[in-house]
Amino acid sequence: VDQADARYLVSLIRSIPDFPKPGILFRDFMPVLADPRGLRIMINGLEAALPVPVDSFDLVAGLEARGFLFGPALASRLGKGFIAVRKAGKLPPETVGEEYSLEYGTQRIEIERSAIRPGQRVLVVDDLIATGGTAKAAADLIVACGGKVSGFSFVMELNGLNGVAALGDHPTSSLLTMP
Ligand code: AMP
Repeated sequence: VDQADARYLVSLIRSIPDFPKPGILFRDFMPVLADPRGLRIMINGLEAALPVPVDSFDLVAGLEARGFLFGPALASRLGKGFIAVRKAGKLPPETVGEEYSLEYGTQRIEIERSAIRPGQRVLVVDDLIATGGTAKAAADLIVACGGKVSGFSFVMELNGLNGVAALGDHPTSSLLTMP
């Protein structure tokens, strides 16, 4: 996105101190989705900023829950299918899961084993990357199901947390860098 569009998106993002926990500055992108111009800029921007060529992946994987809100729209735009990476206990068997550490405690995410055919290449999308733990766990699941991770697309990247470094060598793009 150009500077004016980036400024417009940032102006729509709502920042809530101490949510959901003390010390977290929550970046809420829901107002971007509610705004026709914001939504168009975001989807166009994700397409324009793909970290890898569009013909180098087969599926878009969205992370629950906010990755579900634009992942299917982006996948449709790109001519891809969409798969869901879910929080534990939501999917019928057979699933593959991985536990990872959060700031407090652990979280488990799961994917349906049959969601990915062997060798399918997957672009992972989410609203925001902070430490990168969630996206890294999703990448591990994709590999455990026989898929390949092509790259990662985020709407927002939190500055100073080195989340992208946690994703190894995979190509990554973020529309906005947030302090
Ligand atoms: P992480 O695993 O640390 O990269 O955290 C990323 C996941 O947590 C994403 O699914 C985000 O939606 C959510 N998240 C983490 N920090 C924030 C934040 N400051 N504002 C909004 N969402 C966040």
